[in-house]
Amino acid sequence: MYKFYDQLLNLFLVKLIPQSKKSIKKGNKIFSGAIINKKNQIITLGTNNETLNPLFHGEIVTLNQYFKNKYNYRNTKDYIFISSHEPCSLCLSAITWSGFKKIYYFFPYSDTKNKFKIPHDLKILKEVFKISDGNYNKSNKYWNSYSILDEIKKLKNDEIIKLEKKIKIINKEYKYLSKLYQDNKKINIIPLK
Ligand SMILES: [Zn+2]
Repeated sequence: MYKFYDQLLNLFLVKLIPQSKKSIKKGNKIFSGAIINKKNQIITLGTNNETLNPLFHGEIVTLNQYFKNKYNYRNTKDYIFISSHEPCSLCLSAITWSGFKKIYYFFPYSDTKNKFKIPHDLKILKEVFKISDGNYNKSNKYWNSYSILDEIKKLKNDEIIKLEKKIKIINKEYKYLSKLYQDNKKINIIPLK
């Protein structure tokens, strides 16, 4: 499993973070998604584009991109959905309707609220669905969702140490992206900033 997580972290460093940077400069949020196959090859990825449409979350953009290719319809149960942040209620539903069985995310809801100052995921779950502290069912009939960081903690010590170097860089990069978003958000017209 070490190789799997190492490649997941590379996906953030090489693809998701640079692509997000471009999108955030246009006033969009920090969120992004990707779909990979069993060999860890990237099938598609997408970044938040709420300045164009408030429904265009990173995950939704990724799914829309993915389903442009009709051949992809048959593969969702074998492919893995990756999300930079724990998917919101809209995106969890969209991923469910798309037929994915596995979801991996880097930052949990608590980080989205506290570190990134974007509280809507937790607020919507509480206000609309009466779900406290983001406690949706992470292992259900449709899929399992996993925290990448929690899963890495289950690896061997020397493997964890190697991955921690990359995790540190990812955290640092997102700190910068977050500042970029917060500085830019005054000018955007997104309903829930
Ligand atoms: Zn979402």
